[in-house]
Amino acid sequence: MKKQQLTTLIVATGNPGKLQEMQAHLQGVNVKLKLKPEELDIEETGTTFEENACLKATSIAKALGEWAIADDSGLAVDALGGAPGLYSARYGSSDRDRCDRLLQELGDRENRQARFICVVAIARPDGSIAIVSEGICEGEILYTPRGSGGFGYDPIFYVPQHNKTFAEMSPELKRTISHRGKAFENLLPQFTNLQ
Ligand code: IMP
Repeated sequence: MKKQQLTTLIVATGNPGKLQEMQAHLQGVNVKLKLKPEELDIEETGTTFEENACLKATSIAKALGEWAIADDSGLAVDALGGAPGLYSARYGSSDRDRCDRLLQELGDRENRQARFICVVAIARPDGSIAIVSEGICEGEILYTPRGSGGFGYDPIFYVPQHNKTFAEMSPELKRTISHRGKAFENLLPQFTNLQ
């Protein structure tokens, strides 16, 4: 059977913003990203970020017979036993709600240590996994939000080395130091080997 060249990657998301962000992380790589068809919905039933990223990449690749890429990410707070973790997106009904809930649950606890985790997976057209890459960004949860950029938990996630929350950083700085940035940085050398 003829091997299918890696020239196009289907992104396992219906969100054009996510596609643009991945495109920026893959700058300089000769590959075209395409959104998955809207009707193809994959339930995130895994118990880890890695399982979910692989599940999404494999399901989309197999369904379409094309190369696929997926990521899964979230915020783990030490004093909350790793919550919201896999449930980061479902922790409230809006970004504001999710941040408020996290601040409330953490209260005035002194241990504010937290980390963003991202796993990116690429699957071959037969559904087998070609690459899995993880990135972690360490930080602390503030007592009150700061900054207006970014999304999600950005205004309450503070990175001491830069003396800024994610929401106070330029998109370029966040892209370089973030969990997603690091996952893509680890992935790039392996990616070039696939082409
Ligand atoms: P998913 O990987 O798209 O499922 O995202 C999981 C959730 O984690 C998002 O909805 C956000 O709430 C949170 N999250 C992931 N990455 C970031 C980030 O870079 N900044 C802020 N929140 C994030």
